Amino acid sequence: MSKIVVVGGVAAGASAAVKARRTDEAAEIIMFERGSYVSWANCGLPYYVGGEIKTQADLVLVSEALFDRRFNIAVKARHEVTGIDRVNKKITGIQLDTGESFEESYDKLILAPGGRPVRPPIPGIDLNGIFTVTTIPEADKIKQYMNNKGVKKAVVIGAGFIGLETLEALTNQGLEVSLVEGTQHVLPIFDIEMTTGIHQYLRSNGVNLLLNEKVVAFGGEGTVQYLELSSGKRLETDMVILSIGVAPETKLAIEAGLTIGETGGITVSDTMQTSDPDIFAAGDAVETLHWVTGKKVRLALAGPANKQGRVAGANAVGGNMKYKGAAGSSIVRIGDMVAGKTGLAEKEALTEGIEYFVSFIHPANHAGYYPGGAGMTIKLVVEKQTGRLLGAQVIGKNGVDKRIDVFASAIYAKQTVRDLEDLDLCYAPPFASAKDPAILAGYVAGNILRGEIKTITPRELDEALTQGKQLQVVDVRTVEEFKRGHIPGAINVPLDELRQKYTELDQGKETVVNCGVGYRSYLAYKILQARGFENLLNLSGGITSWNQWDNRG
Ligand code: FAD
Repeated sequence: MSKIVVVGGVAAGASAAVKARRTDEAAEIIMFERGSYVSWANCGLPYYVGGEIKTQADLVLVSEALFDRRFNIAVKARHEVTGIDRVNKKITGIQLDTGESFEESYDKLILAPGGRPVRPPIPGIDLNGIFTVTTIPEADKIKQYMNNKGVKKAVVIGAGFIGLETLEALTNQGLEVSLVEGTQHVLPIFDIEMTTGIHQYLRSNGVNLLLNEKVVAFGGEGTVQYLELSSGKRLETDMVILSIGVAPETKLAIEAGLTIGETGGITVSDTMQTSDPDIFAAGDAVETLHWVTGKKVRLALAGPANKQGRVAGANAVGGNMKYKGAAGSSIVRIGDMVAGKTGLAEKEALTEGIEYFVSFIHPANHAGYYPGGAGMTIKLVVEKQTGRLLGAQVIGKNGVDKRIDVFASAIYAKQTVRDLEDLDLCYAPPFASAKDPAILAGYVAGNILRGEIKTITPRELDEALTQGKQLQVVDVRTVEEFKRGHIPGAINVPLDELRQKYTELDQGKETVVNCGVGYRSYLAYKILQARGFENLLNLSGGITSWNQWDNRG
């Protein structure tokens, strides 16, 4: 009978323990967790703080009693593992309530210690009222603090997924919230123009959004009362939420001499085995293979953690499962808005030195004639030579999740944008369009891939105009639309008049056609092409994408 010891009892650890049990009914399985709860939903915490999830019990997926009764797994909560003796194959630790030491031998050890929130040594960081959203007790402290102190103003630091979810929770509680982000835009893993709508949404909903700002000090008498920012601004507040990232919890692994990769995560093979064949590791603490780049990355995401735990658990009791990596698929809701991403953003493709092109579309989530449709922006990043889908970002309201999942599946299958054109996706008016947005994105990118159309992105056009390049920008929207705003220097020739008026254009000049979203200008492109214009470019995503680029920040 083999003895399996698991360190960490949440996403990866609990998945590992239960999979080990399903794989080997005879194994002895013990799971150590330093916190008070096991198998609970960290991802639900912001909604618990915001009141959408009502009780602690709603966050707990499998109780200690159920682990014992149903899975015959011994759970040791409030037990912190402090050392690994690899030679004698045992762990040592402390029972946190009594302070007593304990030790436990193992045949196979599974490390699933997760990550810990980053708390940089900024002056004043230890003042009361500065929280991270990482555990149920921490979330309870936030709730109590808000009630007991009559908190009216809060500052969220960091505009990643957890920062934005927490911001939503606090605004739902009626607080006046400032969001401080060190980079130029929220959701730093996205491309900047994809976040413009979120900036507008946040500001129009009363959020004090401060970009390119870093906190240099917290101040107050025992309790945080203000923050000093890198620009010299001072921000009064009653409470602060820190959400500036998660560092892998690798202390145990480092002290035990396990190999740590360049990313700072524990190195594992595709069987989730560490550099010690008797120790497996999974979750936020490990490195993960990125499907697109083939490089090791660190992902703090629940899906990969659960899958890795499952593989580690099976293999620890003699199984032969493999974990194939991930594309970092992720999604966040911010009020009415939803932002999702899978694979590479354009800036990541640039950093990787990949030859790529991008395409933008702005379809509705379902048939235009069916009530309640909402627009979305889809940006695809595509490998130039092969057409392989490298990444997708979708911002909108309804239906973002569905499209991101389609793109994530395509990336997994190493499909090209040509394959997207051929997908057979479900359709009825309340759900999609006969040309689903994911398929439409494939059509548009496929046209570029086949050379049926040449495009220019808003960034490239902006750069060309800034450099004073001699371009003829032809806006083919109606006169009324043109009057509402257009690209500087653009000429307005409405599409329906183009066949009569094209002679007024300079055929020798490089010509950029644009419209609202890129479709009418595609038609204009074809009309002009047929009349001998050779140097043509369609503005990808039209004036909508232009505005997203132009209003970024
Ligand atoms: P964890 O779930 O963090 O579990 C690790 C456990 O190990 C911890 O409970 C810790 O106490 C314990 N531990 C550590 N060291 C020791 C030790 N020495 N001895 C004993 N126990 C130890 N991901 C998504 O994909 N989507 C989301 O919407 C999402 N939302 C999130 C919201 C919040 C507020 C947070 C905090 C995370 C969110 N995540 C989300 C990330 C996701 O929760 C993590 O990726 C996932 O939980 C990682 O699983 P894990 O098992 O590696 O680590």
